[in-house]
This record gives sequence, C-alpha cells and structure tokens, in this order.
Amino acid sequence: MNEVKNESNETDEEVKNESNETDEEVKNESNETDEEVKNESNETDEVKTLDIDTEIDSLPGLGPVAKKKLNEVGIFTVLDLAVRSPTEIADRLGSDLSRATEFANKARIKLVKMGILEKDFVPASEIYKRRQAIERISTGANSLDDLLGGGIETQAVTEFYGEFGSGKTQVCHTACIMVQLPKEKGGLDAGAVYVDTENTFRPERIVSIAKARGLDHDSILERIIVAKAYNSSHQELIVGELGRVLDDKNIKLVIIDSAVAHYRSEFLGRGTLAPRQQKLNKFMHLLTRTSEARNLAVIITNQVQSTPDTFFGDPNKPTGGHVVGHTSTYRLYLRKAGKNRIAKMVDSPYHPEQEAAFQLNELGVSDLPDDAPSKRRKL
Ligand code: ATP
Ligand code: MG
Repeated sequence: MNEVKNESNETDEEVKNESNETDEEVKNESNETDEEVKNESNETDEVKTLDIDTEIDSLPGLGPVAKKKLNEVGIFTVLDLAVRSPTEIADRLGSDLSRATEFANKARIKLVKMGILEKDFVPASEIYKRRQAIERISTGANSLDDLLGGGIETQAVTEFYGEFGSGKTQVCHTACIMVQLPKEKGGLDAGAVYVDTENTFRPERIVSIAKARGLDHDSILERIIVAKAYNSSHQELIVGELGRVLDDKNIKLVIIDSAVAHYRSEFLGRGTLAPRQQKLNKFMHLLTRTSEARNLAVIITNQVQSTPDTFFGDPNKPTGGHVVGHTSTYRLYLRKAGKNRIAKMVDSPYHPEQEAAFQLNELGVSDLPDDAPSKRRKL
C-alpha cells in the first residue's frame, strides 16, 4: 500500500514538471506556424472554389509518393492534414520539419480562405457567430444537462472522470443513443463513433437502453460505429482516420472510453513519463482540433488516482496530469452516492461550480425520481 502511495506522489510531481515543458514546446511550435501562415496568407486567392473534401495532392509540391504515405495514416483531405501536427507529418513523410510545416500551413491557408478555419486575428463577433453553431446533446438526465448548460456541446471535449463503477461507460452508452434522437428530443439526429480501449462497449446494453426508451434498437445499433483500440498508437491512428467516417456518415459524437488507459499501462516507471505525456498531449490536441473543425461533440473518460497527501477534500484526482486537464474543455467528476451518482463540474470557464445527482438504471443515465432530495445544489 505504501509503495503505491509513494509511486503516485512521484508521478504527480513528474506530471507537473513534464506538462510545463510540453506546454512550452507547444506554444513555441504554434508561434512558428502562425508566423509562417501570416506571411503566406498574402498569396493569391486561387483556392476559393475548393470544398472541404479537397484531396491533399491538390497542394502544390505534394506528389504521389507523399500522398500515398499520408493516405496510409488516414490523411486524405486538406482538412485531415491541417489538424495534424507538423512533427507528425514529418515523421510520416520521413522529411524534415520545415517541409512538413510548409504542407500543414498550405493546408491551413486553404481552409482559412474557404472559411472553414478561423483566420489568425478575428473579431470577437465572428467567434461569437461560430459559437452560435454549437449544438448540444442530452445526456439522458435533465439534471446533468442543466449542469452542462443544456447538454454535451459540439466544438468541445467533455471529460468524465471518476473511480470504477462511477458510471463513465454508462454515460457514453447513453450518449450514443441520445445523439440519434431528433433535436426536439435532445439529440442531433446523427450517429456516434465509439472508440473502445478497455473492451467495455456492450451492444446488449445499447439494446436494453434503447428498448427502455421506446426506440428501435436495430436502427440505433446501425448508427453507432465501434472501433476497438488495442494500444495507444492504434488509438491515435483511429482518431487520425476519423475524417473519412465523419464525412460518409452523419456523425456528431465521438467517444473515447477511456482516453488515458493505454498510455498509463504502456508507459510504466520513471523514465517513461516524458514520452507518455508528449504522446498524450498530441492525442488530446488532435481531438480538440477535430471537434472544433468539424463541429463535433467529443466525450472522453478518465480514471482517478489517489493522492494521499491531500488532507482536505477528495484525494481522487484525474489521471493524465495537466495535459488532459488543459485540453479538455469541460471536466466532470463522477462519484457514487449510494445507489445514485453525483456529477460535479470542475474548472469550467463559465459554468458555476455545481453538482447534479442522477441515476443509472434501465434508461442508462436518468434523473432521480421526483421525490428524491434536491437534484442540483450550489456548492
Ligand atoms: P470503470 O472505471 O471500471 O470503467 P465506469 O465508471 O465506466 O467504471 P460503468 O461501467 O459506467 O463504470 O458503471 C457500472 C455501474 O453501472 C454498475 O456498478 C451499476 O451500478 C451500473 N449499471 C450498469 N448496468 C446497469 C443496468 N443495466 N441497470 C442499472 N445499473 C446499471
Ligand atoms: Mg468504464
């Protein structure tokens, strides 16, 4: 027991140091990129007619060999290319970073001119307009929806963390069904992608929740695309390849259950923390960029680790350190309260610190019965 405690302390410390470094690197990298984009954006306007599915070989200088290499890792369109980091592209192409940055910038410039990506300097009114396109998916419980300001948002990554059995996987299963409902019933009339890293996706559970909600379970199952990820690299590859699936099917929700588990189990011990956090950081950024560029809702789940040096409050902290915390748009902490579950909004930019109670039952996630004590309370 003592050993476990010590290890968890060390890990926390290292996570903090590491995450600072990584953040710094990301900033430097993105400054460079911004600079070059600004210089190049004065180029002629020849790309206005392109659409979002434009193949990558439409970019000047990107030949068939490079195209093939990028296709192999799921980069088909200009949008796919723009959301990957230049380091990753360089890696795939076996080229130097400057060539990869050039391709990534050209892709970004095209998308900016097409109005798909925001320009580098934009008036707040434009951001406001873009945010008007945000849509919300019901979780299945009104109390939880209220806590989230109306449901799970598109253009955002919503993280549910909590101990085993706290309901993370149940939230994911229910959301896959709710997203399919018409808008007036809390859905977006769209499908879901479920990236299953712990082998806990159960179609039988989908069938029983759908039945309890009076829905046709066959068509519900049809619109959930499941991808099993066997390790962290496979998980990254799957998310990288999402582009094609998202275009073919009308997908509005992507779930990664769990986002961090593979990274934790593969990178054990001291020396491995730096590469782990770097890899996780890259993965989280890919997720956020994809959700923003495609107006998608992303749900990730995360476990907790105990920090025994906490004297006051809950010693359970989400794993993944600052990397996951900084990149998730919303974090909800789930905990058990007898038969019920309590969700708490943690570190949100504009939600008040509130809690909501809900139940796990045949409906998946649902409200407490009407006679239950206060469903939501201010802290
Ligand atoms: P882990 O960290 O192990 O992945 P988790 O947070 O994903 O845990 P879930 O699998 O979502 O946990 O929750 C499991 C809990 O969900 C069970 O303990 C049970 O309380 C509840 N549950 C699962 N199926 C049903 C059901 N059919 N009816 C009622 N409750 C259920
Ligand atoms: Mg689970």
